[in-house]
Amino acid sequence: MARWDEILSLPVQNPPTLEFSSSDLVWSKVEGWRDNIDRVCLIPFARVDDFVRGESANNDCPTRFHVEARRRRPPEMSYKPKVDGILEYILYWCSFGPDDHRKGGVVRPSRTTYVPKKKSAGRPNTKRGCTCHFIVKRLIAEPSVALIIYNQDKHVDKKGLPCHGPQDKKAAGTRAMYAPYISEDLRLRVLSLLHVGVSVETIMQRHNESVERQGGPSNRDDLLTHRYVRRQERSIRRSLYELDEDDAVSISIWVKTHQNCVFFFEDFSDSDPFVLGIQTDWQLQQMIRFGNHRLLASDSRFGTNKLKYPIHSLVVFNLDNKAIPVAWIIAPRLAVGDAHRWMRALYNRVRTKDPSWKLAGFVVDDPLFDILTIREVFQCSVLICFWRVRHAWHKNLMKRCSTMEIRAEIAKMLGQTVLNICKGSSSANVFEDMMEDFVDATDFAEYFKSVWLPRLGVWFTALKTLPLASQETSAAIEFYHIQLKARLMNEKDCNVYQRADWLVDKLGSKVHSYFWLDEYSCKDDFARYWKDEWLSGLTKWRKSMKIPDTDIAIDGKCARVIDLEDRDSVHVVWNPGSEYALCDCNWSSTGNLCEHVVKTIKFCRDKKYVVPSVSMLQYTQALINMLHCPPYDSLVRDHAVSLAVCVQMQLNGQICPDNSGITSISVEEEVEQTLQNHDRIVENENHHANGDVGSALEQKHSGYGTDDARGTLVEQIASENDNCGDGAGKEHSSIGMETIPSSLSTADPK
Ligand SMILES: [Zn+2]
Ligand SMILES: [Zn+2]
Repeated sequence: MARWDEILSLPVQNPPTLEFSSSDLVWSKVEGWRDNIDRVCLIPFARVDDFVRGESANNDCPTRFHVEARRRRPPEMSYKPKVDGILEYILYWCSFGPDDHRKGGVVRPSRTTYVPKKKSAGRPNTKRGCTCHFIVKRLIAEPSVALIIYNQDKHVDKKGLPCHGPQDKKAAGTRAMYAPYISEDLRLRVLSLLHVGVSVETIMQRHNESVERQGGPSNRDDLLTHRYVRRQERSIRRSLYELDEDDAVSISIWVKTHQNCVFFFEDFSDSDPFVLGIQTDWQLQQMIRFGNHRLLASDSRFGTNKLKYPIHSLVVFNLDNKAIPVAWIIAPRLAVGDAHRWMRALYNRVRTKDPSWKLAGFVVDDPLFDILTIREVFQCSVLICFWRVRHAWHKNLMKRCSTMEIRAEIAKMLGQTVLNICKGSSSANVFEDMMEDFVDATDFAEYFKSVWLPRLGVWFTALKTLPLASQETSAAIEFYHIQLKARLMNEKDCNVYQRADWLVDKLGSKVHSYFWLDEYSCKDDFARYWKDEWLSGLTKWRKSMKIPDTDIAIDGKCARVIDLEDRDSVHVVWNPGSEYALCDCNWSSTGNLCEHVVKTIKFCRDKKYVVPSVSMLQYTQALINMLHCPPYDSLVRDHAVSLAVCVQMQLNGQICPDNSGITSISVEEEVEQTLQNHDRIVENENHHANGDVGSALEQKHSGYGTDDARGTLVEQIASENDNCGDGAGKEHSSIGMETIPSSLSTADPK
């Protein structure tokens, strides 16, 4: 009895890494069965897989653990309340055991009739009697927790000698030197390449070339076999999306067989429509890696007109600020506002993997989105992204107006109006007033009146109450949307768009593969297979950074930009300096923001031809609001100043030295100015400055006078703000101060 008290009082350990092994845990010794001493510890049950993976990736003796035995208590079975009652018992064994197929080895009697048949590629060709194993128990008393009992943690046989891995002399030169299976990364790479149409021969050829280059096999992945790849190829070729004639039945079969990549599923009920949330393990890893202390953005209405159910994508941004989809939610149109149904499930899934994971900001592209739920679940600020509206206006101007002059004139008016709304200096009927100016463009005016006037009310409120996402974020989401279109909507038979089972199958296989390959560094090895779907590269925002200032000439109402690739071709940009600029290149003529437009914006802002962006205005406004905190809250103010300096450092790190122009100086001035205000407040406060906080503040601010002292302060603050400091110079990127430091971007500094 004492033993169970002891076990249940152990702390539940939850290492913050994606995978972890026994060396990352603190083990306790308790007296076990037959007077053995067992090593035990507690981890969250949801993380057993992470432990098994980490334990398999043991450097000294790579292997894999398989489930040798499992018992589950059926949920309906009644039980006596006992302290050691268990819901589930799983015995994991090293895959080089427990049987011993080596010469003279012992095979358990039940397995003696087993005749080794054809082995699937990549599996251990022989069991070598390894005794390493551990037990996982899920207790009735604490179902969220797994008790791990490690009985034998050495990879040795019954005689106590190493039986596989580098320590085993007899394994040298055989597969038993390495782990018995290929790594997850290689498995995904092979699958992705096959899904996008690369042949088995090409995959093997590239693989063999790289093994040869390094002078022969040196790890488990080098032993990839032709046979394994061919089998995968065959199973992909033979798989069908239509698992049942009835689409709904087909979907529920898919959900049952893909449990590990479904984070939420609710079928149609009397009151609610169906919702399916898809997230693969790889997507979850990206969400943890690129979402922590950073942004998550939503592209909420992909395929509204063509697909049976639209796709709601959630994306994070990689180090190039390119969007990676980390979850897809599929639900009928009317369920757009029902985010509370799936959002908590997604959040919990991430937090079980990484308890310290926290979002900095959530970017929505739909004013009807359930913002209260986002704030409640993710506890972060919410930003609004306007790209979809701008894109629709731009596209329709190109389609419905005949001349560039009129298009540019209308675009300029629309842009000015949105700017005024964001600044809070416009009334609700401003668009209606504007319609009178559209006389030269009746077709566009009709479109605007029927499509946009009814919807502008909600947009108006959203733009006034939520900070606007930066142009870089918008460019990244726009690029993602176009990629998804190229990768998904390329079927010859358009009837499939009306089947949801086709959609989930294609997202989970082909589309996922393309996005996986985007992050794969050796993608270029397969260039001869590239089709439109491989569409990748930098976002237009990033591409614009490659255009030198000397390639731009402002010419009256237009700017001329020399093409990056074709130096003889020149693009004409109307309304230079505005996000509502129009360019005559192909990319822009379909409604997208091209690199020429982005570059002219940056150029004009640097030269102070135009006012800073809305994001920038809102950012400085947020800074000022924070510094105007009530005097008694000096701690908040102090923190706000630290953050401001930290963000400033990140921004400076991003801006190339030769580009660090006017806009960055204006922020410095801003901070300087606000600091001076701050100093004044501190002075006023000095009478009642009590305790450590007050004196610390005073000390810090006395140093602001000289650059040196300021540098020291910045260092000090950077080290205090570890999380922000980590990202300095790489995580947040900005030129022309386009990035919103999300922790500062709410007007409400709670
Ligand atoms: Zn072993
Ligand atoms: Zn262009």
